[in-house]
Amino acid sequence: MLVTLKEILSDASRRKYAVGMFDVSDLEMVRAVTEEAEALRAPVILAALCPDVEGARLAYWYALARLAAEKSPTPVCIHLDHANTLDQVKRAADIGFTSVMLDASASPYEENIRRSREVVEAVRARNISVEAELGHVGNGLVGSGESGESADDRLTEPDKVAEFVERTGVDALAVSIGTAHGIYVKAPKLDIPRLDRITAASDIPLVLHGGSGTPEDQLASAIAHGICKVNIFSELIVAWNTTLRDELAQVPHMAAWPAVLRQKPDAAMREVIRRKIRFFGSADRC
Ligand SMILES: [Zn+2]
Repeated sequence: MLVTLKEILSDASRRKYAVGMFDVSDLEMVRAVTEEAEALRAPVILAALCPDVEGARLAYWYALARLAAEKSPTPVCIHLDHANTLDQVKRAADIGFTSVMLDASASPYEENIRRSREVVEAVRARNISVEAELGHVGNGLVGSGESGESADDRLTEPDKVAEFVERTGVDALAVSIGTAHGIYVKAPKLDIPRLDRITAASDIPLVLHGGSGTPEDQLASAIAHGICKVNIFSELIVAWNTTLRDELAQVPHMAAWPAVLRQKPDAAMREVIRRKIRFFGSADRC
């Protein structure tokens, strides 16, 4: 069943587990996420990254996600991940997404508030949830400092959380506590005391970007200390791409049928999804 982000995170927040958000690009990824979540009786968030829903792609992507969400007996949220512009948000809202994130985290604080508030005002009347980011989760591929944080990271300042939530009216808040997007060049070290101060500052559901590759003991700690949505993309595509490379190396010619060629890559991706859902504690919740 199709639900909003606010709905899907309220139970997770109360019962201290995390819902997995998986960025999906095509039909088989949509099926992999929703079918594995259904088999594990887990709520799940299907997310689109902007390059996958540009132009005419949006209608195709949404039709697949909507069909999967409606077929599923377990809760599914359809979320736009890392939008850059209000226009991208409005297109997603108009077609039926139940949640959006505009990422203004690289902007100065006041501008981040203004742009996040603008999104809330644009979609609130349609019961669409809004996620914003305070602090900035950088890219793991961009060199890393002594602490393991990436060069363009800016950690969330706990003192600003209550004001940010109040002034923007957002439903979920992505925080920067030491994770990075993409592939880590060095193991991250999450700042759990900082997360505790953020949790104490507001009741808003907290989101961890850069979940891929984050050591499981640290992820477990983050979930125990208040994170209730974890975003995964890189681990899915690394599993898929690596397996596809091995498959391609074995085919005798390049006329191999795509549906057959991708069987093992899809299975590898599904294994990552199952492992994450179980690890987040969201299996057997519905
Ligand atoms: Zn992210």
